[in-house]
Amino acid sequence: MIKSFKFCPNCGHSIDTFDFRRMSCPNCDLVYYQNVATAVAVILKKDDKILFTVRNKDPKKGMLDLAGGFTDPDESAEETCQREIQEELGIKIPTNQFKYFISKPNNYEYKGIPYKTCDLAYIADFPNEDIIIEKEEIADVKWIKISDIKLEEIGFDSLRSVVENYIKTQQ
Ligand SMILES: [Zn+2]
Repeated sequence: MIKSFKFCPNCGHSIDTFDFRRMSCPNCDLVYYQNVATAVAVILKKDDKILFTVRNKDPKKGMLDLAGGFTDPDESAEETCQREIQEELGIKIPTNQFKYFISKPNNYEYKGIPYKTCDLAYIADFPNEDIIIEKEEIADVKWIKISDIKLEEIGFDSLRSVVENYIKTQQ
């Protein structure tokens, strides 16, 4: 239930039920769908380590994250991987270097509004370029050995599960 939406944006009538799928107005014929958003997360790997970012923004500020973000309109998931890594880390990886791994559902609350996402996880080799951190979103980056990863330090349930699955493929 999305509590911030109280009135029909078409006629102003009170809305009493807006779940995560559909808002329908009891007064006019407005029907509005809130669809699941696509987001990507990338396991950037080098030898036996993967690259984590440290979130500098809520939700989950200070916790570990993977590079990634929401897919823009008219963008493929691989293009999202490329764009987000370029924005967050200053590194450009060709879109054909992102290999699909697994998907997980996630809840992402931003400024009091809950969003449902489907996070698509990709794997890519780190290209050994210098990282330039985008400081508004990322506090730091950490290379962590697969055997030293502490899943509880990862902010989002979906990405904790992604990393857990990745660790299993490495054993
Ligand atoms: Zn209405």
